[in-house]
Amino acid sequence: MRIARFSLPGQDPAYGIVELAADGGDHPDTVATLTGDPLAGPVNYTGQRHDIEAVRLLAPVIPRSKVVGVGRNYAAHAAELGNEVPETPLLFFKPNTSVIGPGEPIVKPSEVNELHHEGELAVVIGRICKQVPPERVPEVIFGYTVANDVTARALQKTEPQWARAKGWDTFCPLGPWIVTHLSLDEAGQLGVTTEVDDEVRQQGNTKLMIHSIADLVSHISGFTTLLPGDVILTGTPAGVGPMLPGQTVQVTVDGIGTLSNPVVDEDA
Ligand code: ZN
Repeated sequence: MRIARFSLPGQDPAYGIVELAADGGDHPDTVATLTGDPLAGPVNYTGQRHDIEAVRLLAPVIPRSKVVGVGRNYAAHAAELGNEVPETPLLFFKPNTSVIGPGEPIVKPSEVNELHHEGELAVVIGRICKQVPPERVPEVIFGYTVANDVTARALQKTEPQWARAKGWDTFCPLGPWIVTHLSLDEAGQLGVTTEVDDEVRQQGNTKLMIHSIADLVSHISGFTTLLPGDVILTGTPAGVGPMLPGQTVQVTVDGIGTLSNPVVDEDA
């Protein structure tokens, strides 16, 4: 299933199931509205359906407590920034206030010079959990979505704590929806592509991760309780680089979808 969060003019955000076109194509066609939040409990169909073009897709989840990022989880990316590959996963937090949805602008703060894209596979947690052994990780994953782990690269180099480099408002685009039908094995072999305007910048595959999805969720839950709706960004492949106001960044994870966001200047 593809689970989206969306809004219609004058209405509160709702969840819905994205349905593919009945013509045999694999393009999304309609959204069937759900009665509540599937991350909070059982839901049903309301019976309403909307053309996907008529709704505004929102971030598919607003993490209740945290977004956990993983640094240097692809060897080629660690190397391109002159870093060693860490033996244990290098973790950081992004505040939930940095989350935005598909199509929403990434705002470049005026004091940030090097605004970089990092296209990534994101894991959405479905159950409260702690100290999950790797073999039980599939039980706690709700699904997967696409993320852009926007980073103020110059600040990341000058400030040893990455709270500002990773945590500005709008620095965590998520979407376009959550895919719930992928197995851990399938999620571990997906192409990840980042394009700025029409230029391909990053082209990787989740099979190149140093620490697997199961190991990451197990390791993170080893020190902090994970809650339904928490999001884990699994690291970015090589090819990170600048994105400028006026440009549009598209991150595609094969089998999930494309997350597209324009970049704007804070002062504009
Ligand atoms: Zn990242």
